[in-house]
Amino acid sequence: MPYDVCIVGGGVVGLSSAYFLAKLGLSVNVIEKDSIGSHASGFAYGSLSPLGEAGHAEDILPELEIARMGMDIHALFAEELVENTGIQTDHRFRPALDLIFTEGEVVNAKEQVEWRTDEKGYKVEWLTREEALKTIPHISKEILGAVYTEGVADVEPYKLMLALTQGCELLGVDINHGNVVNVGREGSDIQIKTESGVTTCKNVVLAMGPWMGGTSDWLGFNVPIKPLKGQIIRLNAPNVEINCSVGWKGNYACTKPDGLLWAGTTEEDVGFNDIPTPSGRDQVIEALDKMIPNLDEATLVQHTACLRPLPLDGKIILGPISTDQNIFLATGTGRKGILLGPAMGNIISQLITGQKLEVDITSFSPNRFN
Ligand SMILES: Cc1cc2nc3c(=O)[nH]c(=O)nc-3n(C[C@H](O)[C@H](O)[C@H](O)COP(=O)(O)OP(=O)(O)OC[C@H]3O[C@@H](n4cnc5c(N)ncnc54)[C@H](O)[C@@H]3O)c2cc1C
Repeated sequence: MPYDVCIVGGGVVGLSSAYFLAKLGLSVNVIEKDSIGSHASGFAYGSLSPLGEAGHAEDILPELEIARMGMDIHALFAEELVENTGIQTDHRFRPALDLIFTEGEVVNAKEQVEWRTDEKGYKVEWLTREEALKTIPHISKEILGAVYTEGVADVEPYKLMLALTQGCELLGVDINHGNVVNVGREGSDIQIKTESGVTTCKNVVLAMGPWMGGTSDWLGFNVPIKPLKGQIIRLNAPNVEINCSVGWKGNYACTKPDGLLWAGTTEEDVGFNDIPTPSGRDQVIEALDKMIPNLDEATLVQHTACLRPLPLDGKIILGPISTDQNIFLATGTGRKGILLGPAMGNIISQLITGQKLEVDITSFSPNRFN
């Protein structure tokens, strides 16, 4: 019997899709070439920032509705997945504090406060230097002010992936290892070819993250996605607790529930090279030092690198392709896939089962490239 759905890619987008589809009673097979969650989905920072943060606020605007849905689903996962699997995702609400160092940044930041204030469920305010330092005494005294946002959250991405994997397995999802080399229609079914065999299904979801560019031959059009490398460090920083996400120009730092100070990040256009480098580490340390000086006693515990799936036109790619309504693409989450991925999985499950969608996804259609 063919599976109802095959999902290529075991990242947060693929596994969330599998989870919601299996919950609706469909038979689902996930095929992953490496290990589940072994790329960006397992090694991201884990910030859930539907209003944007770390100085990248306007990036989130095209996907704002999906981001709102992502927040709700993460809250649901924190109850449902934890209850079913016993694995904590470390979901918690903690504020964000975006630091402002120059007059130019002040103008941009005040605009951010304006549109963020309109969003329900958040408290957003401009803090003077003194107010910001009172909130987090460890931050730089060089700042001119800061944007404070309450209502944002975070998770531990690797634990989320563990919980999702087990949640999927409990719902009967088959998770297999395999490098998919071709996808094509065969009569009423779709065939997924790996290096070691063929799997047949009624629908396929391609959720291959930055590797999505490799599907051009299967689909007959180019999916403009490229990898954008990011590096993160985790530090043991005695006596320094940063209980909100401090951000500046795309960099961030926060003490996570594991007690370590996580800090990032780089944006490197270096193809599929995902090896942590000393220069990447030094760049992250330099930005961290600018935001939170006096970390002399901190020691490096872990240093990771992974690849974001960067859509070249800046928007996620979500929906069926025009030449085959049973082939779905779900990718292009860039810096916000941990937040958006679960919502995209939910939308994929609604599309495949013919349900009415809660959000309009027209502008995310893969057919804008076809
Ligand atoms: C440093 C860094 C920090 C980040 N921080 C945040 C954050 O704070 N908040 C946030 O929301 N987002 C964050 N992100 C972004 C987020 O991690 C990504 O957008 C998201 O993980 C992408 O998920 P994905 O499932 O699309 O891709 P991936 O996690 O890359 O998963 C795709 C999977 O597909 C598999 N695959 C590919 N090709 C094939 C094939 N041919 N056959 C079988 N399997 C295949 C891959 O092996 C991979 O496991 C961060 C990213 C980075 C790099």
